[in-house]
Amino acid sequence: MIEISDLGKRYGRNPVLSSLELELASGRIYAILGPNGSGKTTLIKCLLGMVVPDQGAIRIDGQPIRGRWRYRNRISYLPQIANFPGNLTVRELIRMIEDLRQADADSENLVERFKLEPHLDKKLNALSGGTRQKVNLVLAFMFDSPLLILDEPTTGLDPAALIRLKEMIRKEKQRGKTILITTHIMQIVEELADEVVYLLEGEIRFKGSIRQLKEVTRQKTVEHAIAVIANPQPDA
Ligand code: ADP
Repeated sequence: MIEISDLGKRYGRNPVLSSLELELASGRIYAILGPNGSGKTTLIKCLLGMVVPDQGAIRIDGQPIRGRWRYRNRISYLPQIANFPGNLTVRELIRMIEDLRQADADSENLVERFKLEPHLDKKLNALSGGTRQKVNLVLAFMFDSPLLILDEPTTGLDPAALIRLKEMIRKEKQRGKTILITTHIMQIVEELADEVVYLLEGEIRFKGSIRQLKEVTRQKTVEHAIAVIANPQPDA
């Protein structure tokens, strides 16, 4: 369980997160949505301890995270842009991350699943964008972390890899994990998310189930519902 209370962050005079209140239950998949610049990445970075908030608190399983770092071992994170040295091979990168993390990892299964064997000895800068994303997914899924944060996980994936990814996300959920996903692809939200958290200008504009989202906006698809939330029509 993640409890976020009164979370605030500014960059200079620019308020990026404004007194955010949010509870995320274990064993559920949350889609964190909002237009560019709405604060999604900043919220994720606060959870990861990469950004220190100006106010408020985050608790994970009852423990405040401020000033602590061990809790990060219980989070797996797929960044939107992963910058690893391009002259490492895929095999070297996987080994390096396993060594850094010092936890049990199961990369072989994932390498097989994403058909990455032929690429293991290639350098990262020689890989296509989609293949690099598969490698990043292996790194994100290879540890048994209770919290998974996936920033635009579908970027560049071919249809077969997309199917694999969705299966993996569902399986992790069944195992009781909490999963946060940011995505611009509303079909992913519709298929996977239990709940939507919609951020606008650093505030939570909507939080609830897909069903509630559709009911509140009186729309049949998540795509249309989000369009209504993003651009509320003033009352006539
Ligand atoms: P999102 O992930 O929803 O696109 P971000 O959290 O990346 O939004 O950014 C929210 C706002 O904070 C944007 O206006 C962005 O320009 C600003 N911002 C993000 N990081 C920094 C930073 N390190 N320094 C200054 N401004 C930043």
